[in-house]
Amino acid sequence: MHELSIVQNILEIAESEARKNNAAKIIKVWLKIGEMSGVVADSITFCFEALKSNTIARDAELLIDHVPLTGRCKNCGNNFQISNYIFKCNTCNNTDIEIISGRELFVDELEVE
Ligand SMILES: [Zn+2]
Repeated sequence: MHELSIVQNILEIAESEARKNNAAKIIKVWLKIGEMSGVVADSITFCFEALKSNTIARDAELLIDHVPLTGRCKNCGNNFQISNYIFKCNTCNNTDIEIISGRELFVDELEVE
């Protein structure tokens, strides 16, 4: 399962960050997940709950911040939200779009004690 290895990775990052700060416990983990990151947020939460018990994040709460898919038109510079995966500028109809957000998948913040 794709999400399982991602969550393992997230927990490793969280634990190593917590240790750097001499923390004994992780309270909260904020995760940024882009709309086009390729993972299912519910599966991430499920795996997190399953894997956290053997870590210092055993009591941690996972908070997911969903990042919408946005693009920038390479023709007119317009920034816009991409819906239904239609990569087309809503101002000039150009289809040469640069993705500026929506691919994120990372630990944004940690609360430790
Ligand atoms: Zn445009």
